[in-house]
Amino acid sequence: MEIKQVAIPTIYRNVVNVFITKGDTLTVVDAGFKSEEGKAQMEAALREWGYTLADVEQVLLTHHHPDHCGLVDLFERADVIGHAYCNHFLQPTEAFISYYEAYHIQLLQQHGIFGAEQMLRDFLASDMPHFGAKPVTTPLQHLQDVPGMLGFVAHYTPGHSQSHFVYVNEESGVSFGGDLILDTITPNPFIEPPLDLSFRRDSSLLRYHESLAHVNTLHIDTLYTGHGQPIQDVAARIKGIRKQQHERAMKLLHFFKAHETYSAPQLAKLLFGPVFEKQPALTLSETIGQLDYLVHQQHIKQHNEQQIYYTLIG
Ligand SMILES: [Zn+2]
Ligand SMILES: [Zn+2]
Repeated sequence: MEIKQVAIPTIYRNVVNVFITKGDTLTVVDAGFKSEEGKAQMEAALREWGYTLADVEQVLLTHHHPDHCGLVDLFERADVIGHAYCNHFLQPTEAFISYYEAYHIQLLQQHGIFGAEQMLRDFLASDMPHFGAKPVTTPLQHLQDVPGMLGFVAHYTPGHSQSHFVYVNEESGVSFGGDLILDTITPNPFIEPPLDLSFRRDSSLLRYHESLAHVNTLHIDTLYTGHGQPIQDVAARIKGIRKQQHERAMKLLHFFKAHETYSAPQLAKLLFGPVFEKQPALTLSETIGQLDYLVHQQHIKQHNEQQIYYTLIG
Protein backbone atom coordinates (compact mmCIF):
# COMPACT_ATOMS: atom_id res chain seq x y z
CA MET A 1 0.00 0.00 0.00
CA GLU A 2 1.29 3.44 -0.92
CA ILE A 3 0.72 6.25 1.56
CA LYS A 4 0.89 9.99 1.01
CA GLN A 5 0.78 12.30 4.05
CA VAL A 6 -0.78 15.73 3.53
CA ALA A 7 -0.55 18.35 6.30
CA ILE A 8 -3.59 20.66 6.23
CA PRO A 9 -3.79 23.94 8.20
CA THR A 10 -6.38 24.40 10.95
CA ILE A 11 -7.48 27.32 13.12
CA TYR A 12 -6.22 25.39 16.14
CA ARG A 13 -2.66 25.22 17.40
CA ASN A 14 -1.33 22.81 14.78
CA VAL A 15 -1.81 21.33 11.32
CA VAL A 16 -3.70 18.08 10.83
CA ASN A 17 -2.48 15.09 8.82
CA VAL A 18 -4.58 13.46 6.14
CA PHE A 19 -3.39 10.26 4.44
CA ILE A 20 -4.13 9.24 0.89
CA THR A 21 -3.66 5.50 0.50
CA LYS A 22 -3.58 3.45 -2.65
CA GLY A 23 -4.06 -0.29 -2.26
CA ASP A 24 -7.24 -2.25 -2.79
CA THR A 25 -9.06 1.07 -2.99
CA LEU A 26 -8.18 4.75 -3.16
CA THR A 27 -8.87 5.78 0.41
CA VAL A 28 -8.45 9.03 2.31
CA VAL A 29 -7.79 8.50 6.03
CA ASP A 30 -9.33 11.51 7.83
CA ALA A 31 -10.73 14.42 5.90
CA GLY A 32 -8.82 17.41 7.27
CA PHE A 33 -9.96 20.85 8.39
CA LYS A 34 -12.50 22.69 6.25
CA SER A 35 -10.99 25.57 4.24
CA GLU A 36 -10.31 26.56 0.63
CA GLU A 37 -6.60 26.07 1.27
CA GLY A 38 -7.23 22.57 2.61
CA LYS A 39 -9.34 21.71 -0.42
CA ALA A 40 -6.62 22.96 -2.80
CA GLN A 41 -3.99 20.93 -0.94
CA MET A 42 -6.10 17.80 -1.13
CA GLU A 43 -6.65 18.30 -4.87
CA ALA A 44 -2.94 18.90 -5.48
CA ALA A 45 -1.92 15.80 -3.51
CA LEU A 46 -4.36 13.61 -5.45
CA ARG A 47 -3.22 15.15 -8.75
CA GLU A 48 0.36 13.99 -8.03
CA TRP A 49 -0.97 10.45 -8.31
CA GLY A 50 -3.14 11.30 -11.32
CA TYR A 51 -6.44 11.43 -9.43
CA THR A 52 -9.20 13.92 -8.73
CA LEU A 53 -11.50 14.24 -5.71
CA ALA A 54 -14.13 12.19 -7.56
CA ASP A 55 -11.76 9.20 -7.76
CA VAL A 56 -11.64 8.75 -3.98
CA GLU A 57 -13.60 5.59 -3.19
CA GLN A 58 -13.74 5.82 0.56
CA VAL A 59 -12.99 8.12 3.50
CA LEU A 60 -11.96 6.43 6.73
CA LEU A 61 -12.47 8.61 9.83
CA THR A 62 -10.44 8.08 13.02
CA HIS A 63 -12.86 10.30 15.01
CA HIS A 64 -15.37 13.11 14.61
CA HIS A 65 -13.33 16.19 15.61
CA PRO A 66 -13.64 18.95 12.98
CA ASP A 67 -9.96 18.87 12.02
CA HIS A 68 -10.48 15.20 11.02
CA CYS A 69 -13.84 15.30 9.24
CA GLY A 70 -14.16 18.91 8.04
CA LEU A 71 -13.52 18.25 4.36
CA VAL A 72 -15.49 15.00 4.08
CA ASP A 73 -18.03 16.64 1.72
CA LEU A 74 -15.32 16.99 -0.96
CA PHE A 75 -15.51 13.27 -1.71
CA GLU A 76 -18.95 13.08 -3.23
CA ARG A 77 -18.67 9.52 -4.49
CA ALA A 78 -16.89 8.08 -1.49
CA ASP A 79 -18.24 5.73 1.11
CA VAL A 80 -17.61 7.21 4.57
CA ILE A 81 -16.40 4.71 7.16
CA GLY A 82 -15.99 5.28 10.89
CA HIS A 83 -17.87 5.33 14.17
CA ALA A 84 -21.63 5.92 14.04
CA TYR A 85 -21.16 8.57 16.79
CA CYS A 86 -19.56 10.86 14.16
CA ASN A 87 -23.01 11.36 12.62
CA HIS A 88 -24.21 13.34 15.66
CA PHE A 89 -21.82 16.04 14.42
CA LEU A 90 -21.92 15.43 10.66
CA GLN A 91 -25.73 15.42 10.59
CA PRO A 92 -26.73 17.04 13.90
CA THR A 93 -30.41 16.91 14.81
CA GLU A 94 -32.07 19.55 16.97
CA ALA A 95 -32.68 16.84 19.57
CA PHE A 96 -28.96 16.04 19.72
CA ILE A 97 -27.95 19.72 20.00
CA SER A 98 -30.38 20.22 22.91
CA TYR A 99 -29.11 17.06 24.57
CA TYR A 100 -25.47 18.09 24.00
CA GLU A 101 -26.11 21.48 25.64
CA ALA A 102 -28.06 19.94 28.51
CA TYR A 103 -25.31 17.35 29.07
CA HIS A 104 -22.61 20.00 29.45
CA ILE A 105 -24.81 22.33 31.50
CA GLN A 106 -25.51 19.51 33.95
CA LEU A 107 -21.83 18.61 34.13
CA LEU A 108 -20.80 22.22 34.78
CA GLN A 109 -23.52 22.65 37.41
CA GLN A 110 -22.43 19.48 39.21
CA HIS A 111 -19.03 21.11 39.49
CA GLY A 112 -20.47 24.40 40.72
CA ILE A 113 -20.42 26.42 37.51
CA PHE A 114 -23.73 28.13 36.79
CA GLY A 115 -24.90 30.45 34.03
CA ALA A 116 -22.82 28.85 31.26
CA GLU A 117 -25.78 28.40 28.87
CA GLN A 118 -24.96 31.31 26.59
CA MET A 119 -21.27 30.44 26.50
CA LEU A 120 -22.13 26.88 25.43
CA ARG A 121 -24.52 28.09 22.75
CA ASP A 122 -21.88 30.52 21.43
CA PHE A 123 -19.30 27.72 21.41
CA LEU A 124 -21.57 25.37 19.46
CA ALA A 125 -22.55 28.12 17.01
CA SER A 126 -18.89 28.81 16.28
CA ASP A 127 -17.84 25.13 16.19
CA MET A 128 -20.63 23.49 14.17
CA PRO A 129 -19.78 25.11 10.78
CA HIS A 130 -16.36 23.39 10.89
CA PHE A 131 -17.88 19.92 10.57
CA GLY A 132 -18.54 18.32 7.19
CA ALA A 133 -22.09 17.21 6.39
CA LYS A 134 -21.58 13.88 4.60
CA PRO A 135 -22.45 11.16 7.10
CA VAL A 136 -20.78 7.88 7.97
CA THR A 137 -22.40 5.35 5.64
CA THR A 138 -20.47 2.30 6.86
CA PRO A 139 -20.34 2.32 10.67
CA LEU A 140 -17.71 0.09 12.23
CA GLN A 141 -17.56 -1.88 15.46
CA HIS A 142 -14.55 -2.78 17.62
CA LEU A 143 -12.39 -5.45 15.90
CA GLN A 144 -14.27 -5.27 12.62
CA ASP A 145 -12.27 -5.53 9.37
CA VAL A 146 -11.99 -2.23 7.52
CA PRO A 147 -13.71 -2.56 4.14
CA GLY A 148 -11.51 -1.93 1.11
CA MET A 149 -8.28 -2.07 3.13
CA LEU A 150 -7.21 -5.68 3.37
CA GLY A 151 -5.62 -6.60 6.71
CA PHE A 152 -6.76 -3.46 8.57
CA VAL A 153 -8.86 -3.88 11.69
CA ALA A 154 -10.76 -1.14 13.57
CA HIS A 155 -9.81 -0.92 17.24
CA TYR A 156 -12.23 1.15 19.33
CA THR A 157 -10.05 3.43 21.44
CA PRO A 158 -12.08 6.03 23.37
CA GLY A 159 -10.52 8.59 25.71
CA HIS A 160 -9.52 11.45 23.43
CA SER A 161 -12.92 11.10 21.76
CA GLN A 162 -15.97 8.85 22.11
CA SER A 163 -15.85 8.11 18.37
CA HIS A 164 -12.17 7.14 18.20
CA PHE A 165 -10.82 4.19 16.21
CA VAL A 166 -7.21 3.21 15.58
CA TYR A 167 -6.87 1.25 12.34
CA VAL A 168 -4.22 -1.45 12.62
CA ASN A 169 -2.73 -3.88 10.12
CA GLU A 170 -0.79 -6.29 12.32
CA GLU A 171 0.61 -8.19 9.32
CA SER A 172 2.31 -5.19 7.73
CA GLY A 173 2.68 -3.23 10.98
CA VAL A 174 1.18 -0.13 9.34
CA SER A 175 -1.45 1.71 11.35
CA PHE A 176 -3.47 4.92 11.47
CA GLY A 177 -3.74 6.26 15.00
CA GLY A 178 -5.76 9.50 14.79
CA ASP A 179 -5.21 11.54 17.95
CA LEU A 180 -4.79 8.71 20.46
CA ILE A 181 -0.99 8.77 20.46
CA LEU A 182 0.94 11.76 19.09
CA ASP A 183 4.69 12.18 18.76
CA THR A 184 5.26 15.28 20.89
CA ILE A 185 1.86 16.32 22.26
CA THR A 186 0.11 14.47 25.10
CA PRO A 187 -3.46 14.29 23.77
CA ASN A 188 -6.36 15.86 25.69
CA PRO A 189 -8.90 13.52 27.26
CA PHE A 190 -12.05 15.40 26.15
CA ILE A 191 -15.26 14.98 28.08
CA GLU A 192 -17.91 14.10 25.54
CA PRO A 193 -21.43 12.71 25.98
CA PRO A 194 -21.38 8.89 26.18
CA LEU A 195 -22.34 6.63 23.28
CA ASP A 196 -25.77 5.88 24.77
CA LEU A 197 -26.51 9.63 25.01
CA SER A 198 -27.33 9.34 28.69
CA PHE A 199 -26.30 11.87 31.35
CA ARG A 200 -23.64 9.59 32.75
CA ARG A 201 -20.06 10.86 32.59
CA ASP A 202 -17.55 8.42 31.19
CA SER A 203 -14.10 9.05 32.66
CA SER A 204 -12.22 10.12 29.57
CA LEU A 205 -8.72 9.87 31.06
CA LEU A 206 -9.31 6.39 32.48
CA ARG A 207 -10.78 5.26 29.13
CA TYR A 208 -7.77 6.85 27.48
CA HIS A 209 -5.37 4.77 29.61
CA GLU A 210 -7.35 1.61 28.80
CA SER A 211 -7.08 2.44 25.10
CA LEU A 212 -3.30 2.96 25.42
CA ALA A 213 -3.02 -0.42 27.16
CA HIS A 214 -4.98 -2.07 24.35
CA VAL A 215 -2.90 -0.50 21.57
CA ASN A 216 0.24 -1.55 23.46
CA THR A 217 -0.69 -5.21 22.85
CA LEU A 218 -0.81 -4.78 19.06
CA HIS A 219 1.95 -5.24 16.53
CA ILE A 220 2.61 -1.79 15.08
CA ASP A 221 5.80 -0.77 13.25
CA THR A 222 4.65 2.61 11.97
CA LEU A 223 1.79 4.60 13.46
CA TYR A 224 0.62 7.41 11.19
CA THR A 225 -0.86 10.06 13.46
CA GLY A 226 -3.34 12.92 13.22
CA HIS A 227 -0.72 15.52 14.11
CA GLY A 228 3.08 15.50 13.95
CA GLN A 229 5.30 12.79 12.54
CA PRO A 230 4.67 9.02 12.35
CA ILE A 231 5.73 7.04 15.40
CA GLN A 232 7.98 3.99 15.07
CA ASP A 233 8.44 2.99 18.71
CA VAL A 234 4.83 3.01 19.90
CA ALA A 235 5.61 1.28 23.23
CA ALA A 236 8.21 3.93 24.13
CA ARG A 237 5.82 6.76 23.22
CA ILE A 238 3.03 5.21 25.32
CA LYS A 239 5.46 5.01 28.22
CA GLY A 240 6.30 8.70 27.73
CA ILE A 241 2.63 9.74 27.62
CA ARG A 242 1.84 7.72 30.77
CA LYS A 243 4.76 9.36 32.57
CA GLN A 244 3.63 12.84 31.54
CA GLN A 245 0.00 12.20 32.55
CA HIS A 246 1.20 10.88 35.91
CA GLU A 247 3.36 13.95 36.47
CA ARG A 248 0.40 16.25 35.66
CA ALA A 249 -1.74 14.36 38.18
CA MET A 250 0.99 14.56 40.82
CA LYS A 251 1.20 18.31 40.29
CA LEU A 252 -2.52 18.48 41.02
CA LEU A 253 -2.16 16.23 44.06
CA HIS A 254 0.46 18.61 45.40
CA PHE A 255 -2.19 21.36 45.78
CA PHE A 256 -4.18 19.09 48.12
CA LYS A 257 -1.28 18.93 50.57
CA ALA A 258 -1.84 22.60 51.38
CA HIS A 259 -5.61 22.84 51.33
CA GLU A 260 -7.11 19.30 51.34
CA THR A 261 -10.52 20.22 49.82
CA TYR A 262 -11.03 21.47 46.28
CA SER A 263 -13.62 21.68 43.55
CA ALA A 264 -12.59 20.99 39.94
CA PRO A 265 -12.97 24.66 38.82
CA GLN A 266 -10.79 25.86 41.73
CA LEU A 267 -8.05 23.49 40.61
CA ALA A 268 -8.49 24.36 36.92
CA LYS A 269 -7.93 28.03 37.86
CA LEU A 270 -4.80 27.13 39.82
CA LEU A 271 -3.46 24.98 36.98
CA PHE A 272 -4.36 27.10 33.99
CA GLY A 273 -4.67 30.67 35.35
CA PRO A 274 -6.38 33.06 32.90
CA VAL A 275 -6.68 30.30 30.25
CA PHE A 276 -9.45 28.80 32.42
CA GLU A 277 -11.71 31.83 31.82
CA LYS A 278 -11.09 31.68 28.07
CA GLN A 279 -11.37 27.91 27.63
CA PRO A 280 -13.35 26.57 30.61
CA ALA A 281 -14.53 23.40 28.84
CA LEU A 282 -11.06 22.36 27.70
CA THR A 283 -9.27 23.17 30.96
CA LEU A 284 -12.02 21.61 33.08
CA SER A 285 -11.96 18.43 30.93
CA GLU A 286 -8.23 18.15 31.54
CA THR A 287 -8.55 18.84 35.30
CA ILE A 288 -11.45 16.41 35.82
CA GLY A 289 -9.43 13.79 33.92
CA GLN A 290 -6.52 14.17 36.33
CA LEU A 291 -8.92 14.11 39.31
CA ASP A 292 -10.45 10.83 38.03
CA TYR A 293 -6.95 9.41 37.82
CA LEU A 294 -6.13 10.49 41.40
CA VAL A 295 -9.44 9.00 42.64
CA HIS A 296 -8.65 5.79 40.75
CA GLN A 297 -5.16 5.70 42.31
CA GLN A 298 -6.81 6.25 45.73
CA HIS A 299 -4.96 9.48 46.49
CA ILE A 300 -8.16 11.52 46.78
CA LYS A 301 -11.87 10.92 47.31
CA GLN A 302 -14.72 12.37 45.24
CA HIS A 303 -17.77 13.65 47.17
CA ASN A 304 -21.02 13.86 45.23
CA GLU A 305 -23.13 16.24 47.21
CA GLN A 306 -24.97 19.31 45.92
CA GLN A 307 -21.70 20.06 44.21
CA ILE A 308 -18.85 17.69 43.50
CA TYR A 309 -15.70 18.27 45.55
CA TYR A 310 -12.57 16.30 46.30
CA THR A 311 -10.58 15.62 49.48
CA LEU A 312 -7.23 14.04 50.23
CA ILE A 313 -7.18 10.45 51.50
CA GLY A 314 -4.95 9.64 54.46
ZN1 LIG B 1 -9.12 14.98 18.03
ZN1 LIG C 1 -6.85 16.26 15.87
